[in-house]
Amino acid sequence: MKTIAIVPTLFTLGNGICGFAAVTFAAKITADTGDDQVLQLLATSGWLILAAMLFVAVGLSLIFERRAFCRYVCPVGGFIGLYAQAAPLELRVKDAAACAACAGKPCYNGSPAGYGCPWLVFPASLKKNTYCGLCLECLRTCPHENIAVRLRPFAADLASPSRRLDEAFKSFIMVGAALIYAAILLGPWGGLKSAAYEVGAAGWWLYVASFLALIFAVLPGTYALAVRFGLPRSLPTHSFRAHFSSFATALIPLGLLFWVAFSLSFVSTNATYILATLSDPLGWGWNVFGTAAVSWQPLITSWLAPLQTFALAGGLLWSGRSARRIGEEAGVNPFPAIMYCFALTLLMMGLLL
Ligand code: SF4
Ligand code: SF4
Repeated sequence: MKTIAIVPTLFTLGNGICGFAAVTFAAKITADTGDDQVLQLLATSGWLILAAMLFVAVGLSLIFERRAFCRYVCPVGGFIGLYAQAAPLELRVKDAAACAACAGKPCYNGSPAGYGCPWLVFPASLKKNTYCGLCLECLRTCPHENIAVRLRPFAADLASPSRRLDEAFKSFIMVGAALIYAAILLGPWGGLKSAAYEVGAAGWWLYVASFLALIFAVLPGTYALAVRFGLPRSLPTHSFRAHFSSFATALIPLGLLFWVAFSLSFVSTNATYILATLSDPLGWGWNVFGTAAVSWQPLITSWLAPLQTFALAGGLLWSGRSARRIGEEAGVNPFPAIMYCFALTLLMMGLLL
């Protein structure tokens, strides 16, 4: 059992490291190319990362069944799975009893009508969106039309916190990576920028070690302390891990809104590049839509700080509400976990504003 529990945690580590590598690679190209060629480097780094991911995805598909890359390696898939819990859309079976009586379970095992679930998910067991890629293959393979895609209340999955340690660590990667990239790209620390960009140099290795220590040790360690402070003394020690993992669910809204606030900085300053890039995606002098010559200009700059503050405050309120509900259901004081979210929000605000 222990081995099985460790495997997804290792894959979470893989998610984090792959995401880290992808962004670092992009940052390296950015540094090497120079500010005057931003448009070209965006296209180049994007295509190179895409090509590398495609290469690994095809390689893994030749060795392992179904979509091993999507499930275990893809940094985008790992985080989209977390965000998908907030989606107002879900795919679920209509009648669980029909599934229990269904011969062959073609939605999972495949049939002449289509493939078995590429994500190795049995639709009847779906309780959350996290591991469903919404490819809709099971809609084709189910011979009983027992699968529905339906609207639901926003963020419904977050009402039932996960008890999985690997999902807890994904939350820390999401929050920690937002803090680190905000510090590197928006902070005033030239030494940190150089360390992050000089791939292979001694400073870069220190940066790598600090990055991994923050997301896999410092953030989880301090959150564990916060959760421990809220637990009654009489609580059996063995249930601590379950409480820790449950409370980590409350970090998902915080991480989501951290990334929204962080991305606003780039959207507002670089949005005009989108028009130029659409016309010349490879930097080869094309002008497909006649927008290649659109000149750069920052947008909504006077609204940026209020919008970011609004996003961060919204994330904090949402996380605080989640933590309070988790605490109430488990009979645990959520206040230390809420204060932890508050401290991280202040830190992010200091980096962004
Ligand atoms: S094929 Fe349809 S009815 Fe059968 S197990 Fe899958 S979802 Fe249920
Ligand atoms: S939509 Fe795709 S990933 Fe989701 S359960 Fe169906 S087959 Fe699996």
